[in-house]
Amino acid sequence: MSKWVYTFGDGTAEGTADMRNLLGGKGANLAEMSNIGVPVPPGFTITTEVCTHFTKTGGTYPDDLNAQVEAALETIGSATGRRFGDLEKPLLVSVRSGARVSMPGMMDTVLNLGLNDETVGALAKDAGDDRFAYDSYRRFIQMYGDVVMGLEHHDFEAILEGFKDEKNVDLDTDLTADDWQLIIERYKALVQEQLGKPFPQDPRDQLWGAIGAVFGSWMNARAITYRRLHQIPESWGTAVNVQAMVFGNMGDTSATGVAFTRNPSTGENALYGEFLVNAQGEDVVAGIRTPQAITEAARLESSAPEKPSLETALPEAFGEFRDICNRLERHYREMQDVEFTIERGKLWMLQTRSGKRTAKAALKIAVDMVEEGLINHEEAVSRVDPASLDQLLHPTIDPKAERNVVATGLPASPGAASGAIVFSSDEAERMAGQGKAVILVRVETSPEDIHGMHAAQGILTTRGGMTSHAAVVARGMGKPCVSGAGSIRVDYKAGTLTASGKTLKTGDIVTIDGATGEVLSGSVAMLKPELSGDFAQLMEWADKVRRMKVRTNAETPADARAAREFGAEGIGLCRTEHMFFDADRIGDMREMIVADSEEGRRAALAKLLPMQRSDFVELFEIMAGLPVTIRLLDPPLHEFLPKSEQEIEEVAGAIGVSATKLRRRLEMLAEFNPMLGHRGCRLAISYPEIAEMQARAIFEAAIEAGKRTGNPVRPEIMVPLVGLKAELDIVKAKIDAVAKMVAEETGTEVNYDVGTMVELPRACLTADKIAESAHFFSFGTNDLTQTTFGISRDDAASFLPTYQAQHIFETDPFVSIDVEGVGEFMKIATERGRKTRPDIKLGICGEHGGDPASVRFCETVGLDYVSCSPFRVPIARLAAAQAALKAKA
Ligand code: ADP
Ligand code: MG
Ligand code: MG
Repeated sequence: MSKWVYTFGDGTAEGTADMRNLLGGKGANLAEMSNIGVPVPPGFTITTEVCTHFTKTGGTYPDDLNAQVEAALETIGSATGRRFGDLEKPLLVSVRSGARVSMPGMMDTVLNLGLNDETVGALAKDAGDDRFAYDSYRRFIQMYGDVVMGLEHHDFEAILEGFKDEKNVDLDTDLTADDWQLIIERYKALVQEQLGKPFPQDPRDQLWGAIGAVFGSWMNARAITYRRLHQIPESWGTAVNVQAMVFGNMGDTSATGVAFTRNPSTGENALYGEFLVNAQGEDVVAGIRTPQAITEAARLESSAPEKPSLETALPEAFGEFRDICNRLERHYREMQDVEFTIERGKLWMLQTRSGKRTAKAALKIAVDMVEEGLINHEEAVSRVDPASLDQLLHPTIDPKAERNVVATGLPASPGAASGAIVFSSDEAERMAGQGKAVILVRVETSPEDIHGMHAAQGILTTRGGMTSHAAVVARGMGKPCVSGAGSIRVDYKAGTLTASGKTLKTGDIVTIDGATGEVLSGSVAMLKPELSGDFAQLMEWADKVRRMKVRTNAETPADARAAREFGAEGIGLCRTEHMFFDADRIGDMREMIVADSEEGRRAALAKLLPMQRSDFVELFEIMAGLPVTIRLLDPPLHEFLPKSEQEIEEVAGAIGVSATKLRRRLEMLAEFNPMLGHRGCRLAISYPEIAEMQARAIFEAAIEAGKRTGNPVRPEIMVPLVGLKAELDIVKAKIDAVAKMVAEETGTEVNYDVGTMVELPRACLTADKIAESAHFFSFGTNDLTQTTFGISRDDAASFLPTYQAQHIFETDPFVSIDVEGVGEFMKIATERGRKTRPDIKLGICGEHGGDPASVRFCETVGLDYVSCSPFRVPIARLAAAQAALKAKA
């Protein structure tokens, strides 16, 4: 005979906390609380296996379930001295759903089950309180009618409100027992009228009706959708908990409430919660009356300090409650979210589970719990969600500030910023140059906006998704960005934006909140990120267990410095092209591109050399001996050239060629598919002088920085988009030749490595050959994802959402590594590369380097480091630590 039913309560239970799969989260914890002697009203859990049976058989139960339920009802009965359906001492129960993980969409709880026209009288007599009994009965009809019988909640509410109007009273508490009886008659009439049958009077019919409704709700549309979104298997099923009622609505020494054992928004080690006197169940969250604070300390800070706290109203019950909360925390070694009821002064616990919390609270709680000896360092490290750190590393809008929302877009890059609106990148740069904070507003951004994005405090676009150019670049820069705010109309010509009927013009101040996607008018008070204290402590513990190094993707001194403050251990990717987009350099760059002879190009490159060199000196100095990987020029040259006729005229004038000539050059450079065109090492092969200039700048800078800091620099020169060993060999030969030349000229030799960015499937497959020449591989997973899928990221926005909606992609492969495909290429490249060169350095420098799931994958592949944008460095450090712990386990 299978066991379908597990009892709990009265200081013992048949289940335990680790039977969550069978008993659901709520059931397992009710059992656990009973086992450790916490007062829990007795009850029983019908297992998730019954749900599976119910679902598979289209709504039937195992044969022996009925007998087991009857036996369990007997057990509760003897524990409470009551019997189900008894006409003197009726047992009332709640019926509660509870899956393995808490799941909205499941059936709501039904309270006071077992009441009918007869038992209600017995309850009244037994409690010596008519009002309480009829209040409970009307609650029951309302809940059961709504949740089990499918009637509309508001039809019941309408009857109640109508009655209160007739009686001219405001509050439920003003209604008497006689009033409730009249309301009950109307409720029953409603059921009869709407369903053509009476409200069920037999407690057993009621019970099985409720049990069936819980199991049935597992397959309702809301639950199915929720499961799909959260990847919860249908096979898990839900459990049903049937539990003796305790009453928070038995007068002024009764109450019901919810609490966290610590403050869930600050993490402060202080009970935090709310309760209502003379109330039941969901009244607290339903907002019928304003709930009261649990502790005196919280009352004084609350918005309704005139109402007494539980601490003063019911001091004994409060004392016991506080002790139980402490006990639960010590037992579970985790902050708990609890639900309780006090019946005539006696405390009962109805639920406990680990509490949800903000990132700030998670940090504080983890660190405090180590200090309190509840958990060890490693547990603390594994308890904070790395992605949540994003909330902490940026300025945020003061929660107390007034928010004047004019539009909402996508929360594309976290942090908040205020500034004057500008509609072009040149304007952004100009105004920033005058020391003004600006927000760059564009319909969408392109690579030509890099300088404007750098200059701005934040970026707002009206088009594009979470992986649009604006979003990706802003995240890379650690700047707040709201993308795709479609309700905003931008008029570039007029220099205005219109939203919510308001028109703002260039220079007007707006605030964007990259965490919520909101655009607010005016400037708003901000809170600064807090990088010391708990944050620093947890990071220190994380660094102790981490195996992989964490580097940063940075090309500006500001980014490099920020990254070091966040704990970066070098630069994994310096994209040199970003250094050419600057306003004072792009002219020389364009001159080089337009030149039609090698001499012409060399002349322009000679002007760029000192600028490149001084950039590198600065980066090397900031990194003080830490590794720095510099990637040779990667994008196709046309990206540097102007697009519109007007710009072409301007640029032609500035670099001293005719507009016709410039236009001709533009036509020559135009490509059908630039992503797969003349870019990467292909540039270095057709224009070796560019690579030579860059190599020279790197070597000369290394010597200079080495002298200045006393830390010898060992640069890593990275050749992009290599698919064949021959490509790398050609470029490497140029680099080696320059190194030799510089050594001869200066008398100083530089130690350096040449490696490649692995971003083509062919490179992965031939990694053994490429590794003969490459000292390191850095996985460029943005391009590797594009080339593996044959999807251009910039064009994916039109179909990616459909793909995700249809679950072709569970997650965006540009956000989290596609382990099955792209990951497999990484594994192959790692294995084959190491076979040829066992000490080959392996890293990742795509956007994925800051994505916790991808970092976890990199640990399993055994990469030496991950590299990510500066603001993601702490996330990567924590994610790498958790990955190392997981690998150890
Ligand atoms: P949810 O999963 O939505 O929190 P619960 O099953 O926890 O639903 O029930 C909601 C509330 O109903 C509980 O917080 C508690 O106040 C009340 N409740 C549930 N069971 C009982 C009971 N046996 N006695 C008194 N109140 C109960
Ligand atoms: Mg609920
Ligand atoms: Mg609950």
